Amino acid sequence: MVKIAFFEVNPREETYIRKKLKNHDLYFFSDEIQSEDLTEIHDVEIISVFIYSSVDKEVLKKLPKLRAIMTRSTGFDHISVLACKSLGIQVSNVPFYGENTVAEHTFALILNLSRKVHKSYQRTIGDNYSIEGLQGFDLKGKTLGIIGVGHIGLHVIRIAKGFGMHVKAYDLNKDIFMSEVLHFNYCYSINELLRESDIITLHMPFNKQTYHFLDKEHLEMTKKGVIIINTARGGLLDTDALYNLLEKGHIGGVGLDVIEGEDIIKEEEELLSDRIPHERIHEIFRDKRLFKMENVIFTPHNAFNSKEAVQRILDTSIDNILSMINNGKVINPVN
Ligand code: NAD
Repeated sequence: MVKIAFFEVNPREETYIRKKLKNHDLYFFSDEIQSEDLTEIHDVEIISVFIYSSVDKEVLKKLPKLRAIMTRSTGFDHISVLACKSLGIQVSNVPFYGENTVAEHTFALILNLSRKVHKSYQRTIGDNYSIEGLQGFDLKGKTLGIIGVGHIGLHVIRIAKGFGMHVKAYDLNKDIFMSEVLHFNYCYSINELLRESDIITLHMPFNKQTYHFLDKEHLEMTKKGVIIINTARGGLLDTDALYNLLEKGHIGGVGLDVIEGEDIIKEEEELLSDRIPHERIHEIFRDKRLFKMENVIFTPHNAFNSKEAVQRILDTSIDNILSMINNGKVINPVN
């Protein structure tokens, strides 16, 4: 019997996991992991977390028997992977659950902005049926720049082709086979993509190398009126620079599912706490100003959240745990 703790799970997920792992000693928490609060599970061998659980050195210190961490997400930037490696703790993710799911959400954001759906909705619920100021633009014939052409990026390209869009792709690793299958070309440089795209969407991982990948200099290089979409991770975009260029009217619209500061923005009571450093307060107020702009649409890190994708996440996480228990190895290692 292995002791396993699950964080950030809802009752439906708990019932499903209990059924699949019934011979083990299971602990469930609806909140994210906190280093101050681990006494009950100090001897846990496996933990399963979602993206709001920051698994850092402090947490690892409190769990001396930990052998594996499974994140029920593709991104694993919330886990100190290097520290885990040095302690012999295996880390795994769910690499494939939602390429179509996140790509479809990417287009939900694009279409909201191109056809002003969010503005139209706000108007009609206020009993105003005028179409004044609601003119949109066609996607057909426009150029979509895709930064990071992995599982999600490739699916975004498939959908873009269905809309009759031109595609400009940028990735450190070129998949020539897929570029022939899906009929798209890689750019020679990121600058080419930035200068020539009408809409730019980010699908690369967040890490030290990609922090503020779209910084002030890159954003200033874009076409006037460009639309920026980010469903990957908030830290890929310099949000201050984005905000300033939106205010100046250089950027025409922004669709975000992720944003710097999203980890604390949900916790209203946290905003009043004096534990929050000054720069984080700046982030929170800037984000709130950004969300109120009429050419900005924000969804609260919800791109993964389709019924089918969540089921795939649970099943892959359970397979990972069973593989760790039965063979001593996770199926989808990231370290
Ligand atoms: P992936 O690993 O399949 O693809 C990422 C691509 O980015 C790879 O092709 C890689 O070569 C490329 N890349 C890495 N570093 C780069 C760099 N410096 N410059 C250019 N290209 C670079 O990942 P994926 O499944 O397509 O997911 C992409 C990201 O989407 C994840 O890392 C995750 O953070 C995010 N995501 C968000 C949600 C959500 O709910 N909003 C859900 C799933 C994934």
